[in-house]
Amino acid sequence: MHVPPIPSLTTTDPELAGLIEQEALRQHDKLRMIASENYVSTAVLEASGTVLTNKYSEGYPGKRYYEGQQYIDQVETLAVERAKALFGVDHANVQPYSGSPANLAVYLAFLNPGDTVMGMALPMGGHLTHGWSVSATGKWFNSVRYNVARDTGRIDFDEVRDLARRERPKVIFAGGTAIPRTIDFPAFAEIAREVGAVLVADIAHIAGLIAGGAHPSPVGYADVITTTTHKTLRGPRGAMILSTAEHAAAVDKAVFPGLQGGPHNHTTAGIAVALREASQPGFSEYAQQVVANAKALATALAERGFDLISGGTDNHLILVDLTGKGIGGKPAAKALDRAGIELNYNTVPYDTRKPFDPSGIRLGTPALTTRGLTEAQMPQVAAWMDEAVTAALKEDEAALDLIAAEVRTLVTSYPIPGYTP
Ligand SMILES: *Cc1c(COP(=O)(O)O)cnc(C)c1O
Repeated sequence: MHVPPIPSLTTTDPELAGLIEQEALRQHDKLRMIASENYVSTAVLEASGTVLTNKYSEGYPGKRYYEGQQYIDQVETLAVERAKALFGVDHANVQPYSGSPANLAVYLAFLNPGDTVMGMALPMGGHLTHGWSVSATGKWFNSVRYNVARDTGRIDFDEVRDLARRERPKVIFAGGTAIPRTIDFPAFAEIAREVGAVLVADIAHIAGLIAGGAHPSPVGYADVITTTTHKTLRGPRGAMILSTAEHAAAVDKAVFPGLQGGPHNHTTAGIAVALREASQPGFSEYAQQVVANAKALATALAERGFDLISGGTDNHLILVDLTGKGIGGKPAAKALDRAGIELNYNTVPYDTRKPFDPSGIRLGTPALTTRGLTEAQMPQVAAWMDEAVTAALKEDEAALDLIAAEVRTLVTSYPIPGYTP
């Protein structure tokens, strides 16, 4: 049963309620290893589903365009103050609807159409919104991209520096969606200072690791920090922009009225709860365990002959090139899903296959760490993945179903918030 329970919804709209119940069961029964996903607490679920959704509040606390903000102002202020304290920053804007609009607000704050932006290429692990061609950020701005080195799978800072000196970007993005290694914010800052660029650290994937002390912080190096709130940070779907005092006004103006209308106050409340949870001692244990689990899983996968980009991981994420296993990322991901192991197919650096049918898979440990799995279970997870890939090559669906049953048996001992059997 979904937690919190949804009796009114079940009466009003049984069809939709049924789908939500099935999704809750699915999230319970699977090993969820999509690197950007997690399980939020029941408290976050409760805060996100309240009457705060009824309220319009364009503007910022104390400066609104609608009446009736006696409590909404306090909710948003709580979220802002908690974000500032948790990350140690001068300024926080908690209104962006999600990570992509947060990044678009950064463009609006610091660039004009046609100006140059530099980010990591999408197939190398960057994000669409860092200037990739199909994104508005690549269409409306002159974007230049850095890569990872072919031999190491890591960012080559000589290349980044050369490119920055030649292209003189106004904004440099550091961060991405498929980076298994520590991001060297001081190295990016040195380059950004040299060429006079604004350094934006996009910590969407690693915000929870930073909050929990399991990844170095960009504070003191990046001028602006953007992040989603729903990945390792374990809050509702949303985003924040953190900055130095110097850039506070530009950031706020870009989010509202530049890009958005009324903030989603129910989400702001969920973010406030997640930030409070992230400031508790247990959260740093979770963050350290996410990394310990990823390292243990990487070791176990490597022992089974999986080819890991950069040879391993420093964070929550593992990127695997399946070429040596003789299977594409997409058929492997589909087979693994049937085997109860949910992840996504992904391009690998210098991929020779197409983005919709690439060579790799991407996986991460945040969600399974939240439900309590440790290093002790990682060799078993790697074994199941290996068996599933072998079964996929033989088109042995019975073997996949057998693994899914074993996964279900294991995860039953690890309860999740949001569902009770
Ligand atoms: C997930 C992610 C985003 C975008 O977040 P959405 O909420 O999906 O729009 C932006 N940047 C990075 C690096 C991400 O990983």
